[in-house]
Amino acid sequence: MSDLATLLGEKVFINSNVYQPSGNYIAAKAFRISLKCPHCCKEGIFDPIDNVQDAIFPRTYKYDGPLNDALQSGAEMFAIGVRSCPNAKCRGAVTIVAEITPHSETLVTYSPRALIDFRSDNIPMMIAESLKEAVAANGAQAYRASTLMVRRALELLCQEKGAKGANLKERIGKLTNFVTLSPSLLEAADELRILGNDAAHVEAHEYDDITKEHSDAAIELAKKILEAVYQHDDLVARLRNLKKPTVAKHQQ
Ligand SMILES: [Zn+2]
Repeated sequence: MSDLATLLGEKVFINSNVYQPSGNYIAAKAFRISLKCPHCCKEGIFDPIDNVQDAIFPRTYKYDGPLNDALQSGAEMFAIGVRSCPNAKCRGAVTIVAEITPHSETLVTYSPRALIDFRSDNIPMMIAESLKEAVAANGAQAYRASTLMVRRALELLCQEKGAKGANLKERIGKLTNFVTLSPSLLEAADELRILGNDAAHVEAHEYDDITKEHSDAAIELAKKILEAVYQHDDLVARLRNLKKPTVAKHQQ
């Protein structure tokens, strides 16, 4: 870092809430922006809706280095607007906030947030509902709530299959008596701290520092386990069904 950069420090927005302006809103022409659709999960270039304009607004910043008191605060321009998904089957609307620079627009945030993909076919309703709730909580950045719902989904799975053990981790281990699970899945479950300690969840410190990464990993693991238990058989059945007409033809 150069001396000047050290003296200046980092640019810090005075208000960290990107939805609050530090000046007036001005209407401006909306622009196209690339993002992954939270509704259909496809990547695409999102267009403005009809002639709906964006609202442009300033956000003031200061530098946090030793020179900060000597410097005036500056402002960057941001835009908030509505866009729609280019996928003809989706057309879902998304609210975007982007930072505007002279030559480009950078997406800062959007809502609703994309939910993790989850296919619930063949999974018993109670279990699927729990995992859906875990996914929804993850999307709302409620990571502790999300991992609690992952636990619930896995508890229900063990109950449904009759797998018994002292704690959830053990019960998941016992699942192999009833279904085929790959050793790597079991190893992954073993790594997931939140599956251990069964007693007194409220006091368990495992939940204190749950991050997005923990929550994403827990959901991913639960999806893989449920897939192995309920959906692989379904895949075999579907492939068998595909084979039937061919077999019939040969027999004719
Ligand atoms: Zn879409």
